[in-house]
Amino acid sequence: MRKQKGLLIVLSGPSGVGKGTVRKELFSQAGTNYEYSISMTTRAPREGEVDGVDYFFKSRVEFEELIEQGGLLEHAEFVGNYYGTPLAYVNETLEAGRDVFLEIEVQGAAQIREKLPEALFIFLAPPSLSELQNRLIGRGTETEDIIQKRIATAREELEMMSLYDYVVENDEIQKACDKINAIIVAEHCRRERV
Ligand code: 5GP
Repeated sequence: MRKQKGLLIVLSGPSGVGKGTVRKELFSQAGTNYEYSISMTTRAPREGEVDGVDYFFKSRVEFEELIEQGGLLEHAEFVGNYYGTPLAYVNETLEAGRDVFLEIEVQGAAQIREKLPEALFIFLAPPSLSELQNRLIGRGTETEDIIQKRIATAREELEMMSLYDYVVENDEIQKACDKINAIIVAEHCRRERV
């Protein structure tokens, strides 16, 4: 069979749903054979976050230069900070035949849907909006003002669910990871039909 380009896997969903936790769990498991694209952000690092591992932390000026140079596949402003996906890394990895995994918010996913509709779009959904609010409050990493903004954004983000190829409910991390891996395997089988 001809060597195919890698699959671009986009995991999105509202802030607080647990995308980061699910992504870290997926990448900690043996046998994960897709590459994580580390995002750029202008947000300040949280305690324990490492530049070049969790994010590439950039100033607003640096980030805006990257946008101008066309260096990002997508970018979005989320609760006062920029977030974006480095274009060169994604293109090179896909061209080399390896799958790339993005964990991004919904505006960025919408941009990719326009540019690369052949990507695989998975929406991670909370069991309910009230559960999502509890998780945002319980995380304790943000101020009250930021939590309220993230809850308001989450309501809008939930409305985008129907645009995705698959919806995975994050009721239990391991179950969500198993479903995501099953979707990726199934998607390869579907695309490899001649
Ligand atoms: P946090 O500040 O909690 O790390 O991330 C805030 C939101 O930005 C989360 O929904 C996260 O998935 C999203 N995000 C992280 N990286 C990117 C990116 O490269 N592009 C976009 N559009 N969103 C991102």
